[in-house]
Amino acid sequence: MPRHLYGPDHEAFRASVREFVERTLRPRAEQMLEVKSIDRDIWKEAGKQGLFGLDIPEELGGAGADDYRFNAVAAEEVAAFSFAVSSCFGIHSDVCPPYIVDLGTQEQKERWLPAMANGDKICAIAMTEPSGGSDLAALRTTAVRDGDHWILNGSKTFITNGYQADLVIVAARTDPSKGAKGITLFMVEDGMDGFSRGRKLDKVGQEESDTAELFFEGVRVPDANRLGEEGMGFVAMMQRLPQERVGAAVANTAHAFQILRETIEYTKDRKAFGQPVGSFQHNKFKIAELVTKLEVTQAYVDDCIQAHAERKLSPVDAAKAKWWSAQVQNDVLDECVQLYGGYGFMNEYRVARAWRDARVSKIWAGSNEIMKELIGRDLGL
Ligand SMILES: Cc1cc2nc3c(=O)[nH]c(=O)nc-3n(C[C@H](O)[C@H](O)[C@H](O)COP(=O)(O)OP(=O)(O)OC[C@H]3O[C@@H](n4cnc5c(N)ncnc54)[C@H](O)[C@@H]3O)c2cc1C
Repeated sequence: MPRHLYGPDHEAFRASVREFVERTLRPRAEQMLEVKSIDRDIWKEAGKQGLFGLDIPEELGGAGADDYRFNAVAAEEVAAFSFAVSSCFGIHSDVCPPYIVDLGTQEQKERWLPAMANGDKICAIAMTEPSGGSDLAALRTTAVRDGDHWILNGSKTFITNGYQADLVIVAARTDPSKGAKGITLFMVEDGMDGFSRGRKLDKVGQEESDTAELFFEGVRVPDANRLGEEGMGFVAMMQRLPQERVGAAVANTAHAFQILRETIEYTKDRKAFGQPVGSFQHNKFKIAELVTKLEVTQAYVDDCIQAHAERKLSPVDAAKAKWWSAQVQNDVLDECVQLYGGYGFMNEYRVARAWRDARVSKIWAGSNEIMKELIGRDLGL
């Protein structure tokens, strides 16, 4: 089905991202799986290619694109290659920069954004804690003022890019008596005393992404590293979650589409009982259903991309796009595995890894249940 939201500039950018994927990412696909992370030189190459600076003003080393459709194009192309790489790049380029661009002082912007745009410094965002991620307002990491510093204590878990990150946006409690209004954001930098990381977490999928636990033991963070006003961290996170969620929806849909396309080709070649497996009526109808489901999902996600580009996307619509696309992605990939038969269960086949990689989309960045909670609340329920 033709898509209407992209113009020639977006398609030209798509061609350059695709070229980057083929030149830099695809030859390293196996290596990334082996080392369970994305090597620094790949980050730098992606920075050179202009993948990381879309939300960063030109005078600070970015593209200053100010058009979310470019972010969506980058996410689509990278997710079609690897859902894991798109999550790592997405956190660094799509989720983190707006915090610094919107909330940072001029000095903070100059200190961090150019190095993020060119891929020299990798950024992560740490909200989730071992005690819970859904109930963000209940987080326990503390930051206590000590003159012109803050002393951070606590831990975070499941942090994408956590193992490699040079910069981590950390949500911490600065006032225990104020609930959600007692949370503040800090930029913790690699090498600060008391800041350490656990091993790369052993996940069921997404081997290429480094996901880690982070520990803060009496870390002295200068007040100059406080991001935004004291007590405004929770509001800042809530305001920026729609971008994270529409980005997730874009990646979910692109990833499922790509694997479905590959599956359709497979079912044309693979024969059983003397005919292509895709030509059995059951399979043909199943594939017809999957294509329809994805195209309908794409239409809704496209509307959300367009709305976000015009700064009109509501948090509730972003929540709808996120949970629905995650559900569809998982349904589609499960059927794709089925269509591959036994090969679909073999790790050497992309479809098997894609199926494992996708499972987390119903959990992270606000689980499907939390998305439905937000939608239900909006309905006055
Ligand atoms: C691979 C990976 C990468 C991640 N990357 C990051 C990252 O970069 N930064 C970061 O901060 N976090 C990250 N996360 C954490 C992720 O956002 C959390 O796992 C998620 O928000 C859920 O929190 P939780 O795991 O503590 O589950 P819990 O909050 O313990 O929830 C457990 C279950 O209860 C359900 N539940 C909870 N509350 C309700 C409710 N009110 N109504 C109905 N059901 C409910 C949940 O939906 C879930 O099914 C990542 C997680 C993974 C697995």
